[in-house]
Amino acid sequence: MAETKQFKAESKRLLDMMINSIYTHKEIFLRELISNASDAMDKLYFKSLTDDKVGMNRSDFFIKIETDTDNRAIIIRDNGIGMTKEELENNLGTIANSGSFSFKNDENNTAEDVDIIGQFGVGFYSAFMVAKEVEVRTKAYGSDQAYLWKSQGVDGYTIEECEKDGTGSEIRLYLKDDTDDESYEEFLMQWKIKMLVKKYSDYIHYPIRFDMAHDHLVEGTGTEDVPPEYHTHIVEETLNSMTPLWRKSKSEITAEEYNNFYKEKFYDYHDPLKYIHVKTEGTATYDGLIYIPSTAPMDFYTKSYEKGLQLYSSGVLIMDKCSDLVPDHFCFVKGLVDSQDLSLNISREMLQHDRQLKIIAKSIEKTIKNELKKMLANEREKYEEFWKIFGMQIKFGVYNGYGANKDLLKDLLIFVSSNEKKYVTLDEYVSRMKEDQKYIYYATAETVDKADTLPQTEVVKDKGYEILYFTESVDEFAAKIMVEYADKQFKSISDADLDLETAEEKEAFRKLSEESKDMLEEIAKNLNGKIKSAKLSERLKSHPVCLTSEGQISLEMEKTFAQMPDNQGVKAEKVLEINPDHPIFEVLKGLYDTDKAKLADYSSMLYTQALLIEGMPIENPLEFSNLVCSLMVDKK
Ligand code: ADP
Repeated sequence: MAETKQFKAESKRLLDMMINSIYTHKEIFLRELISNASDAMDKLYFKSLTDDKVGMNRSDFFIKIETDTDNRAIIIRDNGIGMTKEELENNLGTIANSGSFSFKNDENNTAEDVDIIGQFGVGFYSAFMVAKEVEVRTKAYGSDQAYLWKSQGVDGYTIEECEKDGTGSEIRLYLKDDTDDESYEEFLMQWKIKMLVKKYSDYIHYPIRFDMAHDHLVEGTGTEDVPPEYHTHIVEETLNSMTPLWRKSKSEITAEEYNNFYKEKFYDYHDPLKYIHVKTEGTATYDGLIYIPSTAPMDFYTKSYEKGLQLYSSGVLIMDKCSDLVPDHFCFVKGLVDSQDLSLNISREMLQHDRQLKIIAKSIEKTIKNELKKMLANEREKYEEFWKIFGMQIKFGVYNGYGANKDLLKDLLIFVSSNEKKYVTLDEYVSRMKEDQKYIYYATAETVDKADTLPQTEVVKDKGYEILYFTESVDEFAAKIMVEYADKQFKSISDADLDLETAEEKEAFRKLSEESKDMLEEIAKNLNGKIKSAKLSERLKSHPVCLTSEGQISLEMEKTFAQMPDNQGVKAEKVLEINPDHPIFEVLKGLYDTDKAKLADYSSMLYTQALLIEGMPIENPLEFSNLVCSLMVDKK
């Protein structure tokens, strides 16, 4: 007897889940084993392309399913690459090695876990959903010795030498005993096997063969005098059509099939937000299946995320992640492209310069854009859902490369606006602009609510103008790169010159500013270079002060720069605006005449308050606190 080895801890837990999973999911075990067999044959086939010693053609590969009714066993054979003893140990002894397995490692076995099993590739272990014992006989390519791996589940497994003809693997499942509500016997029935292969593995590109028993009435029987007698005739049938999903015509495919294909192939357990099936002929001839996921992969906003589509040449996979096929601004899509215009043994470097590939990439970019525009027009809620997950990527797309793609992407942008705090497109914004409105106004803050309550927001809203709320740091950068949309310039409500008043208002304001000039200069002097200037505000209504900026760098941009690793202390040119309609204005005027020292303290306090309102760090909190306190004591 071979020594019994224990599974690694995490494998044990998964096995437990498999064994106890709910019944309706169990049937996917066959899909998993067939897909492993297909992968193993792919590996040997790839080898045969560069190694004559393999001596096999593509058409030599096949999967065979057999049943052994007496022993209640189902057998899945392949003539793929097989496994060495070490590989058996590593691949089937621990789940951590399973390529498709990115599983959360929490302790509790939740309902969601169970659901995951039903949803996507969980691999070899799924065999234990239906089997009480599993045997794997396998002989690796290039080896003379075959091995037998045996396990009854959680108790561990054994490996011993065995006899086997030919390279490849044979998986034998001894089905569990039937219970009152669960019939495992069903998996031995030919209709069931045929149905499962059709349902889950139809597009596997190697034949899946099965010996079908056909009963024929024996001639001369089944008449009035002679009772019917049957003769069983076995015919080997290929159960799968081997047509990949994307090669089928769209009308033949259900939404469920599209979604299942996605989940299996790209290891997601959520349905995608959208699938796009492209079939084009002409300058770019290809079939494509492109999916927009409904959740961002864990690593999406990290460096380890790799964009790309699978690339097939006439149905044969030639690259798993071809990054040249998708532009960065659409890097969230998953999917594949199959083209007959690409050569099978093209190298990665050559591919980069391939003209055909570039044409396909352009066509894909256009397709994705159009699909998103359609979604925006017809399925607004879905688009907003999409936007919350991947909108940032599109905004970066507008900004990156000095705005090279801004025209392509500008109509995909949406922002929450002051109008009911709902999303608007730029086109919607411009089309409902007031007649006298010159600019597309935006307010920048960390959240919509903060933007909505900025002192500067009030007066623009009062004019009846809509304001876009920019809540991500990339927003303003994108707006600055675009400069304008439909001939309307973007303008920050914190911009020094908002240009809102009538001629008379402007004149009155100019006069008042002139009169207050000395006092404002004194305030600026008190602040000692922290601001560029102090001025009276045209934009404030109820608030006493605010900070605005002059020049190219806005206050929000200063905040963003401050967070960058190579922060070079880029600062906005700040302007302290004082509300002439606020009682503080009279107080300041009085102090200017009577108490310059106190005016200095007030200048500093007002400046600090303005920083606070803007959400910027206070330069000297202790001093501020002391000043406030002295004021409180003073008041008594
Ligand atoms: P996955 O297929 O997702 O990697 P599995 O648990 O299904 O995970 O399988 C683990 C590994 O065992 C595979 O990656 C493969 O290396 C090996 N394996 C499974 N089935 C076969 C087979 N029929 N032939 C060769 N190797 C196999």
